[in-house]
Amino acid sequence: MSGITRRGFVKGAALAPLALNPLSSLAQQTPKTDRFDVVVAGAGHNSLVTAAYLAKAGFRCVVLEGRPTVGGGVKSAQFTLRGFIHDTCSSAHNGMQENPLIRDNEINLGDYGLEYIFPDPVFHMPFLDGAYITQWRDPERTRAEFAKINKKDGDTYWRMWKESETIQSNSKFWQRRLAMSHWDIIRDNFEDEHCRSFMLACPWSQQPPQFPMTGRVAYSAFNQQRHSRPLPKGGSGKLTEALARFIEAHGGVILTNKPVARLIVEGGKCTGVECADGSAYHAEKAVLSTIHIKHLVDMAPKDLWGPDFIDGVETWQPEFQMMSTNYATSEPIKYPTADGMISPVHSELLINPARALRFAYDYTIGAVNTENPPVHIIQTSVADPTRAPAGMHTIKVVGYHPYDLKEGPKHWDNIKEEVADATLKFIQRYAPNLTNDKILEREVMSPLDLERMNPHNWHGSCHAGGSGPSQSGAMRPMPGWANYRMPIPGLYQTGGTTAPGGSVTGLPGRNAAIVMLKDLGTSIEDVVGKKQNKTS
Ligand SMILES: Cc1cc2nc3c(=O)[nH]c(=O)nc-3n(C[C@H](O)[C@H](O)[C@H](O)COP(=O)(O)OP(=O)(O)OC[C@H]3O[C@@H](n4cnc5c(N)ncnc54)[C@H](O)[C@@H]3O)c2cc1C
Repeated sequence: MSGITRRGFVKGAALAPLALNPLSSLAQQTPKTDRFDVVVAGAGHNSLVTAAYLAKAGFRCVVLEGRPTVGGGVKSAQFTLRGFIHDTCSSAHNGMQENPLIRDNEINLGDYGLEYIFPDPVFHMPFLDGAYITQWRDPERTRAEFAKINKKDGDTYWRMWKESETIQSNSKFWQRRLAMSHWDIIRDNFEDEHCRSFMLACPWSQQPPQFPMTGRVAYSAFNQQRHSRPLPKGGSGKLTEALARFIEAHGGVILTNKPVARLIVEGGKCTGVECADGSAYHAEKAVLSTIHIKHLVDMAPKDLWGPDFIDGVETWQPEFQMMSTNYATSEPIKYPTADGMISPVHSELLINPARALRFAYDYTIGAVNTENPPVHIIQTSVADPTRAPAGMHTIKVVGYHPYDLKEGPKHWDNIKEEVADATLKFIQRYAPNLTNDKILEREVMSPLDLERMNPHNWHGSCHAGGSGPSQSGAMRPMPGWANYRMPIPGLYQTGGTTAPGGSVTGLPGRNAAIVMLKDLGTSIEDVVGKKQNKTS
């Protein structure tokens, strides 16, 4: 890493195993039997959510994770230096807050170590001309931040905040707006370029803002106005650790380093899986997969899937990818404001709206564009001091670049450090306090590395695939197969390839539980002691 000192800290990678998650070394307890009610292939948060409800219902589950640690995109580890706890992928768990699992505390994950922190300020956007906008938990205070730049835009923020309360309704108002593009809505409603930039990048969406049917994203700033950007105390992985502990406490077994290689099909029904090491696990009742559909389809004879399913897999598109760099630092990033320096957990750099509109073009031509790159910065240690040694910090920098380079994805191995250096230089223009000597270590993950880390991040797609109209709702993963039941009887699918898609929402997981419990002769209402509950 160019020009960066290490100052005597111990590099985590040299001390393997330093994975934080105790479930990494999990009790590779040999199960007493290789027969279970339900076999779960893959341990992302969604499949763990499904397994948790099934285990609570009394079904004996075995979860087989291919990697050394459970969690997929919801993991934390000390992979720079000892004592610095980084989120390997996700940090903000917004989507989980509206899932009844958390909202209604359906399975009491607090008893298994999950506790959320709700940062305030929520989000900050500085500009090179000295302007800035901060989103605070108090919506009136956020409105005032917009109003100090443009009075009318302050009023617009407030009006759209109120409108967002009705977004679930199927009114004509929402039919039109959800079909519009994110950019159309922002351009039509906000006047000032700073305010427009904020509304384009708060939070940044993987979908280009000028694409049709992205109108919902124009309102996503209000989701975080409502919930902040919640962080599990101790690391993102605390969610999946809690789920895994819950499953074990309810008779389930979790095995890591168990990549699933084949589906066992007997009498036309999926009855288990075979792992790459030759071990086989048999399911008395059902098999649940969170293996990417691009890989799943090769795990059973083609004729069992049917032509529509195969076509749906072949036409599946990746998303607009990202890269992630984790820094261990001796100081957080500080931005100047009228009231002094501010060190927010979340900030975004977007030089102007035109730069956001350029993003789709760079992807289309397979180019890495490091000129004024849009960047999302997350400093979890600011709100959660358990993430780093006293006075130290963890900083994650997410950039947006294509996986499929003109030179091929492998070219990422040649350029990723250079791209991270250029991004750091850009950040230093906004935050001059982050000089190179404050950086103790870093780990750069290119879109290709993110796929290597987790095969579910197919082609670097950290939400499993694109979420445009052709892969949303009843078309996720493909028309006809959006109800979590797969074409092979006995096989179910959850995770980011299923509705409503990627991110840390747990909704594909809970929805799959609803369907499986029904097929198994019970219901989620019975399991959680509620009268009525529909798929979310
Ligand atoms: C850098 C980065 C930052 C992100 N930030 C956020 C954020 O702040 N907020 C947010 O909501 N989302 C964020 N995301 C996205 C989010 O992490 C994912 O969309 C989400 O975790 C996906 O969960 P999942 O349950 O669908 O599957 P995954 O988490 O992908 O889990 C799938 C699991 O299945 C396992 N698996 C796959 N194939 C096999 C096999 N054959 N055998 C056995 N196991 C297998 C994998 O190893 C993995 O553990 C981010 C992603 C990245 C990469």
